[in-house]
Amino acid sequence: MTIVPAIGRLTTRQIGERAQAMIDALSVISADEDALTRLYLTPEHRHAAEMVSGWMEAAGLSARMDAAGTVRGAMPPAATGRNSNKVLLIGSHIDTVIDAGRFDGNLGVIVGILAVEQLRARGIALPFGLEVLAFGDEEGVRFPVTLTSSAVAAGVFDTKALDVADEKGVTLREALIAFGGDPERLRQEAYQRPAVLGYLEVHIEQGPVLERAGEPLGVVTAIASQSRHRIRIRGEAGHAGTVPMEMRHDALMAAAEIMLMVEAIARKGKKHALVATVGHVEVMPGASNVIPADVRFSLDVRAATDEARKAAVEEITLFARKIDKRRHVVVGVETMMEKGVATCAPRLTKAIAAGVGAVQGKPARSLMSGAGHDGQSMVQLGDFGMIFVRCRAGISHNPNEWVSIDDMGVAVEALVATIEELGRQERAGR
Ligand SMILES: [Zn+2]
Repeated sequence: MTIVPAIGRLTTRQIGERAQAMIDALSVISADEDALTRLYLTPEHRHAAEMVSGWMEAAGLSARMDAAGTVRGAMPPAATGRNSNKVLLIGSHIDTVIDAGRFDGNLGVIVGILAVEQLRARGIALPFGLEVLAFGDEEGVRFPVTLTSSAVAAGVFDTKALDVADEKGVTLREALIAFGGDPERLRQEAYQRPAVLGYLEVHIEQGPVLERAGEPLGVVTAIASQSRHRIRIRGEAGHAGTVPMEMRHDALMAAAEIMLMVEAIARKGKKHALVATVGHVEVMPGASNVIPADVRFSLDVRAATDEARKAAVEEITLFARKIDKRRHVVVGVETMMEKGVATCAPRLTKAIAAGVGAVQGKPARSLMSGAGHDGQSMVQLGDFGMIFVRCRAGISHNPNEWVSIDDMGVAVEALVATIEELGRQERAGR
């Protein structure tokens, strides 16, 4: 589908309609016929990257694919009226989960391109350069690593990850080469820290707060601190009819006690936006007439601060040890992943709040992101800021994900206003 470049200044509604047409065009690029599935370094990813690259060019950006498969569209210096070497990065991702929604990630890339279109159509000069980025690996579905493409851009990619493989045994290195990327050039693709003014991302909220407040947009203060753990409990199998209750070492009952404590501990941490989830449980041998001998379950813990999250994990672990002794089972707690809190830069949140406040006509609400985003890599490069867009019922990672045309238009206007505000700040030498 060809999206004709916008001519002149559009109304917010017209901008939203353009965003909808672009969302629709990307949504049919999928590995599955009846669902949206677009994983990193697949033919679908390439197809979507080419479409996005075409849109960038039409909006007046010069687009290229970097060595990690990220599409980078740079505004030519002459078009911005820049007087510094600094560049403002705007981005999000075009990969999806399996059977995904259409807005997660994709909307942020589209909003970035449409903001550039409007900046140019309105003749707004900027004292810095502008680049729009379409990352390819935010969801981390194909490979057991995540944020590959933004980690490369931020210069924090760990080359050991090149050896990880997907389900078919294809390594990340092999997939990159087949895609046309270059595993040997990843390091050279990092932005130079002093040249980066900051990184901005527009993303759907993926939660219900903005909808409940009746506000289209919000300002993100931070991306939550997060860790994932695997808890394993070994008890003893036995006959469900013959082993007396007091002689059992039931691994599942021990797990149940720990799980309820996980909930109780998380409920106590509301002040630090603490949330904890057990989302996967395996019971072995898994028969209705056998006392469970072996239970494994996942634990995901997130909070507004690293301290609050670590304290919760510690408390859960201590409780698990107590259960271990009391029930004579063996409990092991393993940490699989740990990501520190990514705090948005006050300078950018201030500019976003001004931009959002101006377009939505009331002060912008601040909220924390419980979900992970490319900003977790980009914060290591420099300042980062995020705008959240209301989505229906907070539903995400689901085909029912939905954002209204008007909200998409308002999101573009808010990004334009934020960029203008940053321009004013930069000129004032702040
Ligand atoms: Zn996303």
